[in-house]
Amino acid sequence: MFIHYRTKAFFLNEQNRGEANRLFTIFTNDFGKLRIFGKAIRKIRSKLRAGTEIFSLSEIEFIQGKSHKTLTDTVLIDRFENIKENPEKLKVAFQVAETMNSFLEEEERDDEIWRLLEETIQRLNNCSLKTKNYSLIYYYFFWNLVSILGYKPELYHCSVCQKKLLPYNLCFSSKEGGIVCESCFQKMDKKTKDFYLKININVVKILRLIIKKNWNILKQLRIGEEDKENLNSLLKKIK
Ligand SMILES: [Zn+2]
Repeated sequence: MFIHYRTKAFFLNEQNRGEANRLFTIFTNDFGKLRIFGKAIRKIRSKLRAGTEIFSLSEIEFIQGKSHKTLTDTVLIDRFENIKENPEKLKVAFQVAETMNSFLEEEERDDEIWRLLEETIQRLNNCSLKTKNYSLIYYYFFWNLVSILGYKPELYHCSVCQKKLLPYNLCFSSKEGGIVCESCFQKMDKKTKDFYLKININVVKILRLIIKKNWNILKQLRIGEEDKENLNSLLKKIK
């Protein structure tokens, strides 16, 4: 006799297995990230299909077998239509899913991450940014996720000497977990400098707004190409 578990889940990733099965990565309200089998799900008449589309939110039921979990029921709550119809939004959704996949351990429930994911997917679906800069939604998600996971970046004081930062010649250090002032940077040896990246003051301001969760200001920002590149290089340093 199996116990049936019910919870809400976002579908983040799928891989075909065998002839008709699929292995999903999902993030659930009650159990955190899970990998779960959909048996015979690629058959047209499978009743599970509707609720397992990528980036959908569903109420699911599953059983825990000896080696893996298997879906037994799904009820679609929202398929977030607007994300699927907009390539820019879809790209961001894939980035979010990939980050969830690589940063989170399995079976660790986290209400804060659940709320962040919910907020992110809903925002991506509902908002229409004048600037069309949907990457901003990804940056918001990413920096708040790493903050929840314990890597909140220091953005106001030098991570080495603790002095209040002046708005020029700043570097970001993935090693120190935040921004470093010019004079501390000059004192570093060459090898340590590999962990550093020059950071524009605009980008520092964007990150501060993100950590403060000030979406109302953020959504009105027009981000220049140089700052966009800087934001992207920063992500690569952390990942
Ligand atoms: Zn310093």
